[in-house]
Amino acid sequence: MLLEAGPEDKNFWIHIPLGYGRNIVNPDVNWCFESQPEEYCHGQKYFLPRGKVLGGTSSINGMVYVRGQVEDFDGWAQAGCHGWSYDDVLPYFIKCETNSRGASALHGGDGPLRVSDVGEETAINKAMLAAAQEIGIPFNPDINGRVQDGIGWHQASIGNGRRSSTATAYLKPVRNRPNLVVQPESLVRRVLFEGKRAVGVEYDRAGTRQEARAARCRHPVRWRLRLPADTGAVRYRQPRTTAGGWAYRWYTPCPASVKICRTISLSICAGASRTPAPSTTVRAAFAPWRRG
Ligand SMILES: Cc1cc2nc3c(=O)[nH]c(=O)nc-3n(C[C@H](O)[C@H](O)[C@H](O)COP(=O)(O)OP(=O)(O)OC[C@H]3O[C@@H](n4cnc5c(N)ncnc54)[C@H](O)[C@@H]3O)c2cc1C
Repeated sequence: MLLEAGPEDKNFWIHIPLGYGRNIVNPDVNWCFESQPEEYCHGQKYFLPRGKVLGGTSSINGMVYVRGQVEDFDGWAQAGCHGWSYDDVLPYFIKCETNSRGASALHGGDGPLRVSDVGEETAINKAMLAAAQEIGIPFNPDINGRVQDGIGWHQASIGNGRRSSTATAYLKPVRNRPNLVVQPESLVRRVLFEGKRAVGVEYDRAGTRQEARAARCRHPVRWRLRLPADTGAVRYRQPRTTAGGWAYRWYTPCPASVKICRTISLSICAGASRTPAPSTTVRAAFAPWRRG
């Protein structure tokens, strides 16, 4: 079972890449969070968009395709997170994508996620690339390669001019499976426990409080609870709290993530990470399709 607080991803602008500008402030498909006042920014609050729709934030984000840096993966593995070195995760990245540049040692040719060049090599973008190289920043032909340093043309999670979200890439192709129930507009309130064992969730749908329990499903509870365990980096603690309404106090983002939201308009690449994305990945990101 997949429970999603927001609606189906039927909003027209989700699927048109240019629609990014609309849904980034559209409360119909966006939680439109605000940070708590930031002590070191004169008490300012920051707007924190997050997808509230099938596909989550991948349905409203900037679609910049950035995998993450080799050194980060290797650092995690060295710190004891076995199975997360770059060489461990690379086969999954390859498996994920259908890259318009074709299959190669680093890219996939027949995965569910569509990745393509944005293809607007405008004069100003070319000038910017040339200027960067003039001051010694190397041209990088593939910022999702083994080296992310440099400047180059980024790719986007777009195929045939349409956004490739987690919902369109992964969910849509399996929507008809008899063992999958997708329930949008279902707001998970809390995880239900029997002793120390999570056995289900309580959620609100169409004005009524409902429960989904693992016993009704053939699949292990860890699958049933996947969504509440994965409600996004900003919101992830909410369903773990018990009764008493929303625990908004948890939503304060850490200063690093605020910094990323504020200074970088397009290139947040946290993936499913619970920690803010390393801002280093942004060095090479370049948005040729966004003209001032
Ligand atoms: C403005 C912006 C631009 C971005 N641009 C890019 C980019 O260009 N490239 C890139 O790689 N990354 C980008 N990102 C980051 C990327 O989109 C996210 O890191 C990624 O989508 C997070 O995935 P997630 O599964 O952790 O959470 P989400 O995608 O946010 O999914 C969480 C889902 O859980 C649902 N949910 C939450 N609480 C409940 C509840 N109680 N009950 C039921 N459902 C619930 C939410 O509605 C949501 O659908 C951007 C992010 C933002 C905010």
